[in-house]
Amino acid sequence: MIRTRFAPSPTGYMHIGNLRTALYEFLIAKSSGGKFILRIEDTDQERLVEGSVDVIYETLKLTGLRHDEGPDVGGAFGPYVQSERKSTYMDYAKQLIESGHAYYCFCTKERLAEIKEQNASENMVKYDRHCLSLSKEEIEKNLADGIPFIIRQNIPQTGSTTFHDVVYGDITIENNMIEDQVLIKSDGLPTYNFANVVDDHLMEITHVVRGSEYLTSTPKYNLLYNSFGWNIPTYVHLPPVMKNQTEKLSKRNGDASFGDLVEKGFLAEAILNYIALLGWSPSENREIFSLEELIENFHLEGLSKSPSIFDIKKLTWMNGEYIKNLPFEKFCELALPQLKTSIKRTGVDLAKLCSYIQSRLETLNDIPSLVDFIDTLPAYDTELYVHKKMKTTLEIALDSLKMVLPILESDTCLDEHALNDKLLLLAEEKGIKNGQLLWPLRTALSGKPTSPCGASELAILLGKEETLLRVQKGIGFLTK
Ligand code: GLU
Repeated sequence: MIRTRFAPSPTGYMHIGNLRTALYEFLIAKSSGGKFILRIEDTDQERLVEGSVDVIYETLKLTGLRHDEGPDVGGAFGPYVQSERKSTYMDYAKQLIESGHAYYCFCTKERLAEIKEQNASENMVKYDRHCLSLSKEEIEKNLADGIPFIIRQNIPQTGSTTFHDVVYGDITIENNMIEDQVLIKSDGLPTYNFANVVDDHLMEITHVVRGSEYLTSTPKYNLLYNSFGWNIPTYVHLPPVMKNQTEKLSKRNGDASFGDLVEKGFLAEAILNYIALLGWSPSENREIFSLEELIENFHLEGLSKSPSIFDIKKLTWMNGEYIKNLPFEKFCELALPQLKTSIKRTGVDLAKLCSYIQSRLETLNDIPSLVDFIDTLPAYDTELYVHKKMKTTLEIALDSLKMVLPILESDTCLDEHALNDKLLLLAEEKGIKNGQLLWPLRTALSGKPTSPCGASELAILLGKEETLLRVQKGIGFLTK
């Protein structure tokens, strides 16, 4: 059975690239009836940020990437938090020391810094393997004396390591280019480099999906798998998500995280759909996929090694499509909180307003600027009344506003349809175009070049009193 894992470090920030990794891991597992596992990689205690595990849970919940096993849901391969597996790593590291594939290193920080400094001119400074030649007695004495130590991997000095990656193909690295990497740090915790191998093996992970920055480390991991006599997983390394041609999307540059995008009014489903296409091409020419459809259509061959650029305009467009296609109830649920904080005027039919704005939004955060005129009529220019195509001049606009006033004053127009019928009838009687009557009214009521609905809808939404006030104001304005 295929088993994939999402292994984020709790940094408090869900990078778009990390979320894409999680999505592909989910899709690889789910498209073959496999399991998707969440593992928290918190061995780098200095990088820990409080509350950040919640960001991970929240993201997976919002996006629907439901994990089958993990710290919060349990499973047969736990614990799923690396800091809770400390003794396991130590046991395995000692096993490697026994078999000669690892060794204790007692070098002080100062000594290591010196090596670096002395060889500063070289491209790559490797540890000089000083402690590899310590005698058994020396090692035992040091341990008995409580001298701090780390454990290093004993990398073969000759030969090369080749491995296959689903996206990048065959990759070969000369062993002498690899440093005797640290497996266990002085705090007794494993490095990522060691923990990922032990955990992926123990958790029976079949496909390891991660960023291409791990490609060059993979030979070290494979040497570890070989030292233990374990099976090597299938590797799927992914190119970075770029901000432009040369820069990666990054937290350091303040680029938006998943959480930031949600706060900016993007829907989790749209974000997920968009990032699915950053590095994967479906076999048919199509862009909108629900998560279910992604599971049905996903195939590893569609993954590409050329980096893609995160295009916020494209995401914005896609988000608009998702908003349009939301079931109306669901849209109201999402839009109402924003409408309630944006509109203070009483008596406005918010459900009706929802139906007017649903097809006009690209993000939920467009709502306030779309409806701001409802509370206060913005200051506007009389030019707004002019509509060249409809041959509406300022004079015609003024006449029209005067003509509609009696209709608006009468109590017979209880809904927008009845009002609209009356207005159209009036236009016919007066022998003018519908637009010549409706455009000035729409302008007087909204004070904007565009509004979420037409003149009659606006009038009903605003209510009789406010409608009359605004039309009278328009008349005054045009009379000057
Ligand atoms: N904890 C690593 C990270 O957040 C995971 C890398 C991996 O998936 O192996 O980058």
